[in-house]
Amino acid sequence: KSVKDDESGENSENAANEQGEPIQKPLAIGDVWRCHARTNLPMLAAGDVVQFSVDMVAGTGLIEVLKPRRTLITRPDRYHKVKPVAANADVLVIVFAPLPKPAVNLIDRYLLVARTFDVKPLLVLNKADLLAEHQDVVQIFQEYQELGEKYGFEILATSGVSGQGVDELQARIDGKLAIFAGQSGVGKSSLINRLLPHAEQATNEISVGSQLGQHTTTTSRLLAYDDGNLEAGGIIDTPGIREYGVWHLPADEVLAGFDELNALAGECQFRDCSHAPNAKGCALWQAAQAGQVLPRRIESLLELMAEAGTQDKAVK
Ligand code: GDP
Ligand code: ZN
Repeated sequence: KSVKDDESGENSENAANEQGEPIQKPLAIGDVWRCHARTNLPMLAAGDVVQFSVDMVAGTGLIEVLKPRRTLITRPDRYHKVKPVAANADVLVIVFAPLPKPAVNLIDRYLLVARTFDVKPLLVLNKADLLAEHQDVVQIFQEYQELGEKYGFEILATSGVSGQGVDELQARIDGKLAIFAGQSGVGKSSLINRLLPHAEQATNEISVGSQLGQHTTTTSRLLAYDDGNLEAGGIIDTPGIREYGVWHLPADEVLAGFDELNALAGECQFRDCSHAPNAKGCALWQAAQAGQVLPRRIESLLELMAEAGTQDKAVK
């Protein structure tokens, strides 16, 4: 049900009793078991569905089978080992807000992540109660709304304070496994707590016995809406999605993540067009000048393309 990145801490609920006697109570759905994984299994991530056997004396489990994954978001660690971030996520909820001021490139970065790993993006403008004083953010909202209409994603306005839009958000992710991404301070935790009233409790439960405390950044969790019934959906809360670098992606994969620009790139005068603002005959900038695409989307693209394919540089 839940996989922790750290290896410290003891099993909580089912810890072995001191006398070494088998646990008497029956296994129940929703129980938390600390498990080891068979060494032939790939690295596991929050959201994975597994089959495990239990040792009733030790109170621990052994994960034997990893079920096929619908989706898998990965990222490379600093040693270039590709690590799973979240498994089986259906929706990547990309949260931004009037405050902290949106780093627009970050929205595009997460749209790219969603595209690359075939997870449906859902944009959420939270803190809608603060919009009146932030017309520039209203405009960003409208721009992404237009983009979403063309390329098949939705954008909602919510407020963790007034509750506006929370039901709609809930309806969009109901029965699905959602993963939340976005700048720190935009209100992800507040939204998650509203969507999942027992989230706080779940945090405590799973963190019992761990030395790392409750809001540690090294722990990934799956907060299920209905314990033991993954079909009901839930939320994957993982630090792995923060500060998501794209340097392990090939540059053309980055371009493919920007639908409206990718569609134009074939029309650039030169096949190896850099799409730089001064590039001769660049169809992207021509379309921007004609008001058909947003210049800042091209800027995001260029920034992400410059970052992509730099794997070898990054290791030095
Ligand atoms: P996270 O870092 O994205 O998880 O953000 P938090 O959930 O910790 O929220 C950051 C701050 O924003 C907290 O002080 C919240 O009370 C506040 N906040 C969250 N949602 C809203 C909202 O919809 N409107 C306003 N005005 N403040 C909010
Ligand atoms: Zn070009």
